[in-house]
Amino acid sequence: MRLLLVEDEKRMAQALCELLRLEKYEVDHYDDGINGLAAIESNIYDIAILDVMLPGMNGFEIAQKARKRSIVTPILMLTAKAELDDKVTGLDSGADDYLTKPFMTKELLARLRALGRRTLNATDGVLSYGDIKLETGTLALSCAASGESVRLSEKEYRILEYLIANKGQILTREQLAVKIWGFDSDSEYNNVEVYMSFTRKKLSFVKAKTEIKAVRGVGYELRCDDV
Ligand code: CA
Repeated sequence: MRLLLVEDEKRMAQALCELLRLEKYEVDHYDDGINGLAAIESNIYDIAILDVMLPGMNGFEIAQKARKRSIVTPILMLTAKAELDDKVTGLDSGADDYLTKPFMTKELLARLRALGRRTLNATDGVLSYGDIKLETGTLALSCAASGESVRLSEKEYRILEYLIANKGQILTREQLAVKIWGFDSDSEYNNVEVYMSFTRKKLSFVKAKTEIKAVRGVGYELRCDDV
């Protein structure tokens, strides 16, 4: 899971980064609202943790702007205890959950696990889009209409999962590369196309009408025009 942390208090940020990395999350940290917004809009994060009071732009504004741009990344807002109304504003702004400072690390980790499950948007471990279903436990791809199914590789699964989570949007090759292979993924850059072709073959194997459309010069989009 890749987390975005936007927090301007140095010691807090440092402690959170250390804690989250120990818990095996990949964490990127920004200390102001402007860079924080740009980061969440890159749409490569599974969860965003936003402090409310930030230089440049506050956490609520980041959340509102991101939601307006159809970014669905779950947002956990960190609020100071004195800012009780923030709770309301935070949920109105498009935040999914809030945590009042100071908080127990156990509590933070529990919230993150809950939001992480929501990211997958899975009902009983099944993700669906158009005429296809993805089983999160077995990595099986199936098509209801044809009754066919096939097992995906981990990367193929993650590509489809990412496309389903962002249905209706075009994902760039770069977003896919970073999301699936991580940063420092230059050498893997061309693999996006290779894996797209593998994934498409699996879609046609199960005779799905759902397709991965390439948008020239932009990226890829999941489409199912025919169901
Ligand atoms: Ca702050």
